[in-house]
Amino acid sequence: MKIIFLFIDGVGIRPPAPDNPVNPEVCPTLCRLILQHSVPIDACLSTPGLPQSATGQATMFTGMNAPVFMGRHCEGFPGPSLRKKIEDANLFLMLKSRGKHVRFADAYLVDSSDELAARRFKSVTTVMALTTPEVISTTDDLMENSAVMQDLTRETIQDRYPEIPVITPENAAAHLFGIARLNDFTLYEFFQTDVAGHSMDYARACAVLRLYDKFLAALLRFTRAAGITVLMTADHGNIEEMNERGHTRNPVPFIAIGPREEEFRARVKSLVDVTPAILRLI
Ligand SMILES: [Zn+2]
Repeated sequence: MKIIFLFIDGVGIRPPAPDNPVNPEVCPTLCRLILQHSVPIDACLSTPGLPQSATGQATMFTGMNAPVFMGRHCEGFPGPSLRKKIEDANLFLMLKSRGKHVRFADAYLVDSSDELAARRFKSVTTVMALTTPEVISTTDDLMENSAVMQDLTRETIQDRYPEIPVITPENAAAHLFGIARLNDFTLYEFFQTDVAGHSMDYARACAVLRLYDKFLAALLRFTRAAGITVLMTADHGNIEEMNERGHTRNPVPFIAIGPREEEFRARVKSLVDVTPAILRLI
């Protein structure tokens, strides 16, 4: 089977509220998926305080409870001990050892993985990708539409790369689908939702969710026809509560749509279960 894993940063589940932009008027496709194809899962991981990116993502992509390992939720980029854990065992490495073809679809604006490795600050997904450098997408891949920019449309890189044309979210979906057809497992990470959540700007949050929803609707048309399973989850809540600047302790959606979707949903109760479920069912 083929899987596209959409990691969306900072999207939790919360009942309708005036400051909750995750509603059917703003993002109808995402809301339909949450309603019909998701289970709410725990992102707090038996740890007090607000869940954070480093430990949440490390949990999602390793299957270990990273906040319990660290003794707290850790923000931003993982430190040395968490990095070591991710380098020792992660989803990309484990899929590779099973002979699966893996791709990290987000384009890094570098010429090679060596250039990426030299960066001082690395996200969880970057640490993971560097353990399997063949999965990494570079500027050349983006030029050939064999990678997708983290903002979908490439608007944020126009000042530096005017030669790379702006595309629609529907185009980005077509590009991601093209990548997924050539691989067993394709990851696409989108973090503008978390950035918008921290801004406390409701209109901005709506704009980001509308853009992502167009991408999602187009992607699902492709994947349904091709029998590709789409999984989606978040590392913690944020955007669903725009009156608060920080993250939330709300559950996050674990969405599965396509072949074996019920089996995926039955196996995942918290972020700890995501990697084991993928390894089991792929
Ligand atoms: Zn955040």
